[in-house]
Amino acid sequence: MLVPDYHTHTSRCGHASGGIEDYVRAAVEAGLPEIGVSDHFPMGIFGPPDPSLSMAVDELDGYVSEAREVAARYADRIVVRLGTEADFLPGIEEKIRPVLARTPFDYVIGSIHFIDGWGFDDERNLAEWKKRDVDKVWLDYLDLVRRLAQSRLYDILGHPDLPKKFGHRPSGLAPGRLEAEFRSAARELGRAGMAVEINTSGLRKPVAEMYPSLEFLRILGEEGVGLVFGSDAHGPQQVGSRFADAIALARQAGYAESLRFQARKGRAARLP
Ligand code: ZN
Ligand code: FE
Ligand code: FE
Ligand code: ZN
Repeated sequence: MLVPDYHTHTSRCGHASGGIEDYVRAAVEAGLPEIGVSDHFPMGIFGPPDPSLSMAVDELDGYVSEAREVAARYADRIVVRLGTEADFLPGIEEKIRPVLARTPFDYVIGSIHFIDGWGFDDERNLAEWKKRDVDKVWLDYLDLVRRLAQSRLYDILGHPDLPKKFGHRPSGLAPGRLEAEFRSAARELGRAGMAVEINTSGLRKPVAEMYPSLEFLRILGEEGVGLVFGSDAHGPQQVGSRFADAIALARQAGYAESLRFQARKGRAARLP
């Protein structure tokens, strides 16, 4: 018995394949106790819509009703939760707050994919990395993590050290600086009562490791930040991918429990 997979997408986002039922069926076949769908929150709610990145605003209701319908139909085989992966950008808080509040999400993953308008984890924008100071990208990113936590809008931080995706690492920071930044971000997440995910999709990317690193995850655990697991599946065959390794990483970092979410509340359960 593995742990729930809380990070999955569907074809609604324009860059994934499969519908909700395909992911749920894959989770049953993988032997997962629970799956959450967390398709990208509609960008049109807080900025210009982009059909290659998220569903349209008017698709949100259909997403919710489809998830509920599938959850009911599979209730005897698996628990299905309704989530979303919502961006954090400074200034969008009051645009997304009412929509998050009125939609019956079981959990909201908060993710940082943009640093002043630059989608730094999008392959299409890879050239921009050459023009940037990598150390500054990391510092700006971790500052955004603190602000994401302070917004109190989200339950789970998605892919906590995403700037490493293509292999970019800080190189010129003073000794101990990165660890101190991880620590202060972890404290803000702890203060907000937030969790983080171990996201196994990094194993499929150039960096070839999970998000977050063992170092960051240890610090998160020390600061009392809860834990969930996500494959970030963009196809049903990726559901639950490498979860045995993810559980091993959690244990190595000192975690003995992970969280199950319902109606925006996390409940601790022992790791298998
Ligand atoms: Zn995606
Ligand atoms: Fe993401
Ligand atoms: Fe995702
Ligand atoms: Zn993601």
